[in-house]
Amino acid sequence: MKINANEISALIKEQIKNYHAKIDSNDVGTVVTVGDGIALIYGLDKAMLGELLIFPHDVYGMVMNLEEDHVGAVLLGDDRLIKEGDVVKRTNQVMEVPVGKNMLGRVVNALGQPIDGLGEIKTDKYRPIERIAPGVITRKSVDTPLETGITAIDAMTPIGRGQRELIIGDRQTGKTAIAIDAIINQKGKDVICIYVAIGQKNSTVAQIVDKLKSYGAMEYTIVMAATASEPAPMLYVAPYAGCAIAEEMMSQGKDVLIVYDDLSKHAVAYRALSLLLKRSPGREAYPGDVFYLHSRLLERACKLSDEYGGGSITALPIVETQSGDISAYIPTNVISITDGQIFLTTDSFNAGQRPAIDSGLSVSRVGGAAQFKATKQVARSLKIDLASFLEMKSFSQFGSDLDKSTLAILKHGEVLLRVLRQEQYKVRSLSKQVFELFVAKNKFLDELPIEEVRPSLDEAFEYVNNNHKDIFKSIDEKKEISEEVEAKLMKVVKEFFEMKNSK
Ligand code: ATP
Ligand code: MG
Repeated sequence: MKINANEISALIKEQIKNYHAKIDSNDVGTVVTVGDGIALIYGLDKAMLGELLIFPHDVYGMVMNLEEDHVGAVLLGDDRLIKEGDVVKRTNQVMEVPVGKNMLGRVVNALGQPIDGLGEIKTDKYRPIERIAPGVITRKSVDTPLETGITAIDAMTPIGRGQRELIIGDRQTGKTAIAIDAIINQKGKDVICIYVAIGQKNSTVAQIVDKLKSYGAMEYTIVMAATASEPAPMLYVAPYAGCAIAEEMMSQGKDVLIVYDDLSKHAVAYRALSLLLKRSPGREAYPGDVFYLHSRLLERACKLSDEYGGGSITALPIVETQSGDISAYIPTNVISITDGQIFLTTDSFNAGQRPAIDSGLSVSRVGGAAQFKATKQVARSLKIDLASFLEMKSFSQFGSDLDKSTLAILKHGEVLLRVLRQEQYKVRSLSKQVFELFVAKNKFLDELPIEEVRPSLDEAFEYVNNNHKDIFKSIDEKKEISEEVEAKLMKVVKEFFEMKNSK
């Protein structure tokens, strides 16, 4: 084939034109300043918010600010490797994390890379860390309980699959303990768990992983850790990345429980980033969009309707308060975003009432619809009984001679609190919870000295378990106390306490 000179020059011109398009200056930029995990970049005119950037030495960054003449990015690696004048490239994709079932049993960082020394995680699927929450049409209301195995919660503030329940309290009040117990209790219940540790010590996370392993909970759990020693951008990204992994499982019709421990530290990390990016500070020096920070995260927890696979994400965010002040900025924000809160108090915790749940300030706004009938049958009056006990108690401190009915209410309240005491890692099955509340509700324990309440209850449970196992089997299977079972339970419990008292 012959090509004449005219055509050749046209071809070359065409190629030069295309060549120019390929190295569009929109795609590269240069670092103007860098420090504190933040880089300001000149160029990158077409960068997207949240887009991943590549710096030299394989350091990644994420676009956070789009200004008229520059782009602000956070660095997801060592900022000491980056210097002024370095070339930055766009990737044309927003930040993604690896997802899939191969991540189960692993400990990963906020980028989804393994940090447990067990080698590479083989996944070929990625998901963007930010995603718009499922819409109203794709959802349905919660209808299945998420059992925590903690009597006080399952009875008074029940959680449904797809719900968002906040765990809030001062430091060292057993917040993490509740979340970990809830994870341990999912064994055999076909729920995948994700524990996102934000801003905690490495040693604390290692201990938690050890505990999960020893209770056989790591098999169905992923731990994502962005510890206090890591740069603030990693802490900022972690909960969204964890949520992306959860969404992948949910899209396959699975139920997922995700714990964010804790969102106060997440907000602090975001505040640090925002101030460094020179966004203007507002109340408590948090940037104006700190509400949106948590609302867009927690809104992604949901129960999908059956047409969309029926999966769910239950979120248990944790927030730390300062001296019980739940009306501070971040606590009020997260309280208003979630479907209820479990409020823990230092006073109860130090008095030995653990889990230290404040029954008056704790609520679950939607979980009641998902509570098992059996629990409803025995726990209906629990909150009211406790409330009248607490009110009576504060009054009775002034008077010395109290009438009989007051004394009875006081004693019953003390007994109920004892029944709700529960040690860490000792999760209780549905039938055990129902049995204990049944015995307490029918006032079998009110005559006992307070110290004997727990041992007697354990003894009674053993007795019924050894001699009338069918009762517990029926409750566990039917999830309700049938009339027949109730009559039988009443009879054998009476039998046990008569036998005990006659000794
Ligand atoms: P931090 O603010 O440091 O994160 P936290 O509120 O998460 O603390 P935990 O770490 O869960 O609190 O618990 C504090 C301590 O109390 C731990 O040593 C834990 O073992 C103990 N603890 C928590 N719950 C119980 C319980 N139900 N029974 C006995 N001990 C408990
Ligand atoms: Mg904790």
